Amino acid sequence: MEATILDRISAVTGDITKLNVDAIVNAANRSLLGGGGVDGAIHRAAGPQLLEECRTLNGCETGEAKITKGYNLSAKHVIHTVGPVYSRESNPAELLANCYKSSLALARDNHLLSIAFPAISCGVYGYPLEEACKVAVDTVCEFLKDSLLPEKAVFVLFGERDLQVYEKYLAALRE
Ligand code: ADP
Repeated sequence: MEATILDRISAVTGDITKLNVDAIVNAANRSLLGGGGVDGAIHRAAGPQLLEECRTLNGCETGEAKITKGYNLSAKHVIHTVGPVYSRESNPAELLANCYKSSLALARDNHLLSIAFPAISCGVYGYPLEEACKVAVDTVCEFLKDSLLPEKAVFVLFGERDLQVYEKYLAALRE
């Protein structure tokens, strides 16, 4: 992988709702009306106006994405995407890759410079983190190769062990 692409990608631990980026990605469900996990945390931090805007969007299909404002978040926008339920799909990797592509395309089309992703589908939706990490990193690298925007993508992991999985894969690509 080209070093210049990997220089645009990083992985950190933390709470994605605290990130000061142009857009944070929400691992939402198809209703887009809120839920648990990172979805609940984003709605709590953004405030009730986020749910109001989400109500106007008529939900979202698995692998697709929709953009809203960020309201009380530091992030200017939230890009809501719906990951696959791992055990329910015959092609979870393709659907998960579509989540990253759709989100990045929205960021590019809205002229956003920076985007932060949680580990989509890796909580309640049951996607094994090692497998999801490869799909996430490979898909983001492919997209950035062909697009100057967003300039930077950050993977935000909830804990040191999850971060290590990403760090290890990114290090292997750098070699
Ligand atoms: P899904 O339904 O797509 O599996 P979850 O919200 O259950 O979504 O989990 C997705 C990932 O987000 C999990 O790895 C979980 O640990 C992580 N996560 C939960 N809350 C936050 C947060 N505030 N910031 C970043 N990551 C989070």
